[in-house]
Parts: sequence; C-alpha cells; structure tokens
Amino acid sequence: MDAVPEDDGRALADAALACAGPARRWLDANGPKLPLPGLDDAEGERVAPHLPPVVDAHVHLFPDAVFDALWRWFGRYGWPIRYKLHAAQVVDFLLQRGVSHLVALHYAHLPGMARVLNEFMADLCRSRPQVTGLATVLPGEPGARQVLEDAFAEGLKGVKLHCHVQCLGPDAPEMHEVYAACSAANLPLVMHAGREPASPAYRCDPYALCSADRVERVLRDYPRLRLCVPHLGADEFDAYQALLERFDNLWLDTTMAVADYFPVPTPVGLLAARPDRVLYGTDFPNLPYAWDRELGKLAALKLSEESQARLLGANARALFGIAAPRPQ
Ligand SMILES: [Zn+2]
Repeated sequence: MDAVPEDDGRALADAALACAGPARRWLDANGPKLPLPGLDDAEGERVAPHLPPVVDAHVHLFPDAVFDALWRWFGRYGWPIRYKLHAAQVVDFLLQRGVSHLVALHYAHLPGMARVLNEFMADLCRSRPQVTGLATVLPGEPGARQVLEDAFAEGLKGVKLHCHVQCLGPDAPEMHEVYAACSAANLPLVMHAGREPASPAYRCDPYALCSADRVERVLRDYPRLRLCVPHLGADEFDAYQALLERFDNLWLDTTMAVADYFPVPTPVGLLAARPDRVLYGTDFPNLPYAWDRELGKLAALKLSEESQARLLGANARALFGIAAPRPQ
C-alpha cells in the first residue's frame, strides 16, 4: 500500500480504536488488511538544539541481505519501510542528524545464524565508537552459551532476544541459559516480550507466548538480570507500569509506542512512573513514518528537564555503560 497522508493514518487508527476497544490486536486495525499504511509525515533535519543529548536505544543493524529479506517481510506483513538504509548508512543518517549514540540490535530466527550476526555487529562497533552493539542467539541452539561468551569477548554489550520471531516465551526453558549468561556477565538483555506489534504472519502467536506475568517471573527469578522490554511492554501498559514500580531490574523502551501510529493512546502515565527506567528508542530504520516522529511527540509532552534528559539519553547511557557525549 502506498503512503497515505498522516491525517488519514490517524483517522484510520482512531476509527479502529472507536469500534474495536483496546483488546483488539493492533495490526487488525487496518481491516485486517496488511501491510498497515505508511505515514507521509514531515521529518526534521536534525535533533532540535534545545534537546539534551539523544541516545537512540533501539536501532536495528543487520547485514545487507538480512535487511533486504526483512524489508520484504515487513512490506507484506507489517508496514512499508520508509528508510531502506543498510547498516553503515543507518549509522551515518542518525549521527548526521544529531543523535549522539545508538544502541544497535539484531536477532536470529534460525540456529547457526547468531555467530555471523554477532561478528558483523562486533566489526561494525570497532569502527564506529558511537554505536553500542548487542549480541543475539537463538535460545536452545547448540553452544548457545558459548556464542554469547564469544560475543561479549568481542565487545558486544548485552543481548537482544525477540520472542515473536524466535517463537519462545519469556518462560521457555531455553531462555534460562541466556538469563544466566547476562546475569553472570552483568550485561543487559533487551527482550521483545510484549504481545504487540503482533503480525499474524509470525510462525507462532505472540499472545500465546508473551505476558507481563511471565516477565514478572523472570524478574523475580533473576534479580541480577537487567531486563529491558521494548515498545513500553505493549500492549499491557498497565501491567508493565506495575512491574516498573515493583522491580528495580526492569527497563522499558519507547519504540513505536509513543508515535500515535498504532490504534492506542500513548501511555503517558507509564512514561512518568519511573523516569529513571524508560529509554528513548525508535526501531529505525524499519519505520513507516519520519525518523524523528517519536522525538517530537516526547518533546511535546513537556516533561521536566531532568526527566527528559534521562528519557532521551542518560538512562540508556547508564544501562549500557555508554560514556557521556563530548560537548559539541
Ligand atoms: Zn525492534
């Protein structure tokens, strides 16, 4: 589907919300015709100068062929990708626009794939000091623990898992090895453990695999594991707010959850619940709208200066051990 003007996209989302109620799956908002529409919203030239240093804590970097395959999938089953940029171009694009640092993520859906991805990421990070790269592994694959140990030794600073793509819930037995490896190395785990955005084209049903209750068990069983759940835990915003208030080993990132793109209102209360535990992240370049759309939405919330500085950069620097940016 071609991009539609932003107002049409909003109207579509609002109509879906009005008739469907909050329990309706997000990707059904379109009828359930996929892909969802792209938005033709205006993009900024740079990060606004009055904003504090920005870290994008959720950027995707893959080898070219993996990106190409991913974009074909998104174009059919998700949303049109507005920025079809390969890894080096992604880094240049964001840094040239004033983002000070990126946390780069990838994930493996087949056994034997993670080592190649991790080596690709480690190589890229060696030449780009403004990129903090995370490792991945397919939990349960042969030698999974060693794959992670080797990736950490190569300089990767945490692990990314994706429950939907990997078809494993947070309570799957295969996950424990990863939780233990991250706890032992004191490196964070970014795990897409919320139920949305749930494409019907996944091999498994994210609603059957994922729940805030299952994440709570992980937080309880691994108190030394620093866990970050993307998309503000979508769509269980209330449950994740309660978890944030109870657990000091949980972080959330804002990725796609504050864009006014999906048919749910921005959970403003959740953003304010723990200003030290929420990170700005975008999913760039796999976006159907402007690269800085969520930056603008967050700035418009008029958070206190301190909360904004934490949300846009300081929390990510603390979680991933990123040095403070040099003054420009
Ligand atoms: Zn992502």
